[in-house]
Amino acid sequence: MSDNLYQHFHTVIERQPEATFMTTPAGRVIRYGDLPGLTAGLAGAMQAMGVAPGDRVAVQVEKSPETILLYLACLRMGGVYLPLNTAYTGEEIAYFLADAEPALFVCRPEDEASARALCTDAAQTSVATLDGDGQGSLIEAAARAEPMSGITPRTANDLASILYTSGTTGRSKGAMLTHGNLLSNARALAETWRFTPDDRLIHALPIFHIHGLFVACNTVLASGASMLYLPRFDADEVIDAMVDGTVLMGVPTFYTRLLKSPRLTRDAVAAMRLFVSGSAPLTTETHNAFSERTGVAILERYGMTETGMNSSNPYDGERCAGTVGFPLPGVEIRITQPEQATALPDGEVGMIEVRGPNVFSGYWGMPEKTAEELRSDGWFITGDLGMIDDRGYLQIVGRGKDLVISGGYNVYPREVEQIIDEHPDVEESAVIGVAHPDFGEGVTAVVVPAAGANPSESSIQQALDGRLARFKQPKRVVFVDALPRNAMGKVQKNQLRDTYATLYS
Ligand code: ATP
Ligand code: MG
Repeated sequence: MSDNLYQHFHTVIERQPEATFMTTPAGRVIRYGDLPGLTAGLAGAMQAMGVAPGDRVAVQVEKSPETILLYLACLRMGGVYLPLNTAYTGEEIAYFLADAEPALFVCRPEDEASARALCTDAAQTSVATLDGDGQGSLIEAAARAEPMSGITPRTANDLASILYTSGTTGRSKGAMLTHGNLLSNARALAETWRFTPDDRLIHALPIFHIHGLFVACNTVLASGASMLYLPRFDADEVIDAMVDGTVLMGVPTFYTRLLKSPRLTRDAVAAMRLFVSGSAPLTTETHNAFSERTGVAILERYGMTETGMNSSNPYDGERCAGTVGFPLPGVEIRITQPEQATALPDGEVGMIEVRGPNVFSGYWGMPEKTAEELRSDGWFITGDLGMIDDRGYLQIVGRGKDLVISGGYNVYPREVEQIIDEHPDVEESAVIGVAHPDFGEGVTAVVVPAAGANPSESSIQQALDGRLARFKQPKRVVFVDALPRNAMGKVQKNQLRDTYATLYS
């Protein structure tokens, strides 16, 4: 059998054509049995626009059910799906288009003119449009096109997607993901999180990122479950959906926003069986507040664009706050001193490395970067620092690039942030290293005060005295109204480092 991921979804489609795949707030229902016809039109339109198997299809559009169908159609025809963050500006898009040379660029109608201007020199890229209501020239073309029949055969090693990393630590890199990568991860997650056809996933994430696209959609499709589609996160709408839903996948900010609603109660979550968090660290405080309010422990997992998901807290067994659990089935995790490439004993902090069928095949157009991060024996050097505790749970202590080295000592920002966040006057914090004439880097805390509180720099510093070794204590504490975050809730520490670059000079 072909290893096209869509082929695997197709076996689910044939098994349960009457089952619901998606419902929308407007009352639209897409059944599994509708998918072959819907994707055939879109795939036929793409073929007519010159997309051949192996060609990239770049997509920068608002979230809509049609965008998910476009992804499936692209898999089906053997195209390489390349979603782009809706926040990227023309200049950024120019980089991605020049880098990936797509055969087709699907954009928002309002961006069509600028997209055409960008695509003139690039590799004969066709342009089509799709809006947030699921309308546009792509949909018109699908209605006219000769529907595609069959499913393009693919091997497990053929590319299914190029997904750009979030660009948290530098310029985004295009991770080449194969059909085999995506299928193995969907199966591992469906098994670990016990997905069945009775599940209904509340889908409120963006779909240009690994979390909302592959973790959410592929796990649903691989298990024959359904999705309660929401165009975006809105706490009230998500709480409303909990009446019909069984699972929510969210980033930590979903949970902090839900906790701000008095409607989040034990009764509100009574029909839900699982809350998953990932993409950024979930604080112990949020984890505890959620379980106190609802009686449910959020399950935190860990993954990244290059690998899909690597580890998860257990479904049964303790979901341990501040950890990301155990390796998923088929995935190996080790902690190393990267230069030596040998595993460190449990309990020691080092580089997290990952190996398994989920690991990508390299960065698009960056063979040197690939060689630096992906070892020839298959281990991927994630760039995240962590350790395995005495019970085997993986703990992430932060990104290698965020490590602060002050006076020759390593300071792991997360440890400091956790203690600052316990202060009653603090909503949240980010700890960064800033160039310092004496210490090399000075530990610096950027703090968002709790609502109504007005803490002083010295009150925060005093509260840390005795709780953290002197070298870990922030030399300066600065206050801000909000931390800079991207769409996935990741704190943009690069930006903070730039803002405070001259604090000690
Ligand atoms: P770039 O690689 O371009 O700098 P990025 O690493 O933020 O950007 P993604 O692939 O979207 O791009 O994010 C993966 C990263 O997110 C992981 O390497 C890790 O640092 C972080 N992450 C994901 N899940 C968790 C989690 N549960 N706890 C802490 N960090 C997490
Ligand atoms: Mg990364």
